[in-house]
Order: sequence, then structure tokens, then C-alpha cells
Amino acid sequence: MPAANARLPWPGVPRWPAPELPPAASYLACCFGETAGERAEALLAGADHGIPVQRAALAARWDAEEEAELRRLINACHTGVRIILVGPESVVLQAMAVARELGASTDEIIPVATEAAAHRPRRRVFCAACRRSFDAVAEIGARVACPVCAAELTVNHRFSGPHAAYFGWPTGLDLHQ
Ligand SMILES: [Zn+2]
Repeated sequence: MPAANARLPWPGVPRWPAPELPPAASYLACCFGETAGERAEALLAGADHGIPVQRAALAARWDAEEEAELRRLINACHTGVRIILVGPESVVLQAMAVARELGASTDEIIPVATEAAAHRPRRRVFCAACRRSFDAVAEIGARVACPVCAAELTVNHRFSGPHAAYFGWPTGLDLHQ
């Protein structure tokens, strides 16, 4: 990877500043989506030669499969690793929470958002039918299908703190009953 790649202009206007790559014994680059892979390579072009880099390509979404894979990757890390989390902001935030839960300190995590959540009406929705949460591109009042139970939901303006998600009510359900 030629060093010139480190100076590639980064697409879009990231809300998060382009991070510096801190020194590390090794790097784990978890890339959620294809754009994320390119961003990670641009960042890793600044790494010292000889430092081991593990690359993991994940889907640009957050679900049980991606979370399980991330947990497996982080659990296999050794001391001195820096964990690079690249992807859509909503995914990176969830991934950061998992990394912290598994014992990674803030210094050990390098978050890179490929797209700011504010640029898209992407929000977390809590399905009132099956009581599972999922990410959806949906405005308040819009209809989305629950990917878990396939219920058709209307995204409600009410936000559930415990679930960190907007309520999705099965469409047609009378909330006043
Ligand atoms: Zn559901």
C-alpha cells in the first residue's frame, strides 16, 4: 500500500475528524461495509511497517450476526491492540459500546464514521410486536417492516430510553384501546 494513499481526500464531510493512527503493537480493523474498507486502508497506510494488522470485513449494518463476529474478533485480541471501527455512525456507536463492554479503553478504540447519522433519517426502532430493536432508514410516522418478525410498523415519535430506540407500533393498531 503506497503511502500516498494516506493523503487521499476523504469523501463527504465527516462529522468526526479524520483520526490519527496511534502507535500500537497490532491493529484490528473492523470494517462495516465496502466504503469502510477503503477508509480503513487509507488510515492503515500510515501504520509502521511490520506491525500486524488484522482486517475484518463486516456488513454495513448492526445485527446479531455482526455483533457476534465483532465479539469474537475483539475477544481474540492481545494486549497493545488498537481497534479501528469503521462504518456508518449508528453501527460504529454500537460497535464501540460492545468493545467497551469487552474491556477496551477509549484509547484503544479508533472510531471512524463513513456517514454521519444526521445526514440520513436513520434511527433505531423498537418493534412493539416482537420486542426487538433494529436500525431503519425511516422518518417519524413512516412505515417500516420489522426484519425480525415481519410486522408492518409505524415509527412513533415516542422514544424508549431503556431500548435507545423509537417505538414501532404494528400499523393499524389503535393505541387508544
Ligand atoms: Zn418485530
